[in-house]
Amino acid sequence: MPKYHIVIDRDACVADGLCSDKAPDVFVTDDEDKPIVANPNTKWPENILWIAKNCPVEAVSIFDAETGEKVWPREE
Ligand code: SF4
Repeated sequence: MPKYHIVIDRDACVADGLCSDKAPDVFVTDDEDKPIVANPNTKWPENILWIAKNCPVEAVSIFDAETGEKVWPREE
């Protein structure tokens, strides 16, 4: 079971390629150069969290796959 459930806000995404560059095992790009989650069951889940934290527009939301709790972005 994957550690994280990943949700991409496609409207917010600016297609800079960070997702697929840093985690090509997880993300593939579509014909708009925006990421699609192809395989959330990565061996490096902390890499996904890093990508979410470094997305320039906070378009990657991360949820704990087991509890459903939002991990990123943090609620204030
Ligand atoms: S890091 Fe953010 S802006 Fe960049 S491709 Fe991924 S979702 Fe889009």
